[in-house]
Amino acid sequence: MVNAISAARILIVDDNAANLTVLAELLDMAGYTRVYTEQSTRQAVTRWQTQPFDLLLLDIRMPDMDGHAVMAALRANLACDDYLPCIVLTAQTDRETREAALDAGAIDFIAKPFDFDETLKRIKTALNTRLLHTKTRNQLTEFGQTISAQTEALIAKDHDLAYLAAHDSVTGLLNRRAVTMRMAELAKTHPGGMTCALIEVTDTDQLLLLEGVESVDVFLRRVSTQLKMVIDDHLGLCGVWGGQTFLCILPFMGDAVRPVFERLVASVFTSMARFDFDVSLHGRGGYSPVVLGAGETHEAAIDAAIRRAGFALASLHKRSNRLVEFNQVMADTALRRNLVERELNLAMQQNPEQFFLQFQPKVDLVFERVVGCEALLRWDHPTLGWISPVEFIPIAEEKGQIEALGLIVLAQALQFIQRMQRECGRAVMVAVNVSGYQFELMRAKGGSLVDEIRDLLEQYQIDPVYLELEITESALMSGFDWVIEKLHRLHGMGISVALDDFGTGYSSFSFLQKLPITTLKIDRSFVDNAANMPRQAALLGGIVRMAQELGLVTVAEGVETFGDIELLKSFNCPIAQGYYYSRPLMPDAFIHLLNQPGRITPAH
Ligand code: C2E
Ligand code: MG
Ligand code: MG
Repeated sequence: MVNAISAARILIVDDNAANLTVLAELLDMAGYTRVYTEQSTRQAVTRWQTQPFDLLLLDIRMPDMDGHAVMAALRANLACDDYLPCIVLTAQTDRETREAALDAGAIDFIAKPFDFDETLKRIKTALNTRLLHTKTRNQLTEFGQTISAQTEALIAKDHDLAYLAAHDSVTGLLNRRAVTMRMAELAKTHPGGMTCALIEVTDTDQLLLLEGVESVDVFLRRVSTQLKMVIDDHLGLCGVWGGQTFLCILPFMGDAVRPVFERLVASVFTSMARFDFDVSLHGRGGYSPVVLGAGETHEAAIDAAIRRAGFALASLHKRSNRLVEFNQVMADTALRRNLVERELNLAMQQNPEQFFLQFQPKVDLVFERVVGCEALLRWDHPTLGWISPVEFIPIAEEKGQIEALGLIVLAQALQFIQRMQRECGRAVMVAVNVSGYQFELMRAKGGSLVDEIRDLLEQYQIDPVYLELEITESALMSGFDWVIEKLHRLHGMGISVALDDFGTGYSSFSFLQKLPITTLKIDRSFVDNAANMPRQAALLGGIVRMAQELGLVTVAEGVETFGDIELLKSFNCPIAQGYYYSRPLMPDAFIHLLNQPGRITPAH
């Protein structure tokens, strides 16, 4: 017999003990292992209700409660998808009795006295049907449970999705979309105005490199908790604007906003104190009131205010711990910078001929003859006109274009040396400005500026004595030792090296000793009008003397007046460069000047 059937639970209910025994023994012999008997109908009902059976063999005629009443009691508790697996045991097999039993819920009859074969067959059939029903029912229940579990999971997921759609996954703050939407709602309920600030944590890239992603996330979470605490105190809003930029909104305007935003910027530092990082992170911020223009929507006013806060932020140096309020100059500067950046890229790709050099004479103060020149890069843009190198060089440095631009300058400078030799029968030394970034960019690419320069000298067949490189102190501040090594190599090749804008950086005398320089270019700020300012004159004289002691050539930059020339001569400063003698000249004009015999005629 199939195991499931032999283990089926069968209850026989009959007031006649002999019947019970006969049937129980019959079933036992047939291999059924869980057969139970009950003489009392009430006991039977209680038992069934405690734990239902797979089959009920029920005598229909009993003294206290007949079979119909038992079936009615049991059916009353059936689930809607269940039936009562009951076979009626009866001596009366007339139609009326059978119909009444069926009406009461019986599924079959077994006639008394029992025909054993037929009895076992009917029991087996009834059990098969019952077990199949139970199995199907269990499967359906299980299926139903799975469905409801899945539905619950979907609802939960829906909640999760709604949360994720509105929050930043790292910090848990509102994300960009959600915070601007809430801001618009807040604006409608705060006609008194609002102020928004963009607060940025800088140098997280350094933190990422040194400590890993997890540290950055932990730190940003810490900062966001601090920001939220302060902002919540003032019933404002805050959210994540970009990777490490937060948008914070206060529901008021005027002087009261600044101290609150200052606390936010400062909280970047207070958050730092909890960690043992090697990197020092900075906080900076820009803010602007939200001003609702006539006929303007709240959304448009908010958008404009966030942009203004962005301009204010962009006006700050990356590593300053500062907070500034927006003003129009910031927007103009940022837009102009953006324009120059785009045009620079375009010109370098498509019109490199827009870049050319002018040459400013360096004049020997004893003989008043041109002994050299400085090559100064010029950019003549077709619609924007001449753009100053002071404006575009820092952009080229930041955007990595200085490397290509620097090579254009070097090539043009060497070509000019060739031209002087050809057209004047002699050449003077040409000084080329070199940015510290040029060394760095070449190195990052696995190349070296030293090799590039050597190749160019070879290509144009130029003696290195005609080339001087001007490098500023600030350029040497980053990667000092490494750049110094390069300068030594260039010096070793016979190229002169000048320290440009001397006095504007942080140079110390020991620093000067370490540098492989040949020339010191004293910054214009020391020279300008020194003749009329005794303290400045004394400083200038001191610098010239010191340079002489160190065996360096001094070039005074930005000399504009006769008085300054006289003063420099009295200090025995050997060389001067400035508008007094000449502005930077186009190549033709410089060649013309070089061909003039005798002393240079001052331009003024
Ligand atoms: P710098 O190397 O100190 O160049 C001297 C600057 O002072 C030049 O400005 C020059 O025109 C100006 N100047 C010369 N004499 C006088 C004077 O008597 N009075 C006044 N007021 N100014 C005078 P410029 O050409 O605008 O160049 C500015 C800066 O741009 C340069 O300062 C240099 O740092 C940078 N630069 C120019 N060309 C290049 C280049 O090819 N490469 C790099 N990396 N930087 C360059
Ligand atoms: Mg220079
Ligand atoms: Mg200079």
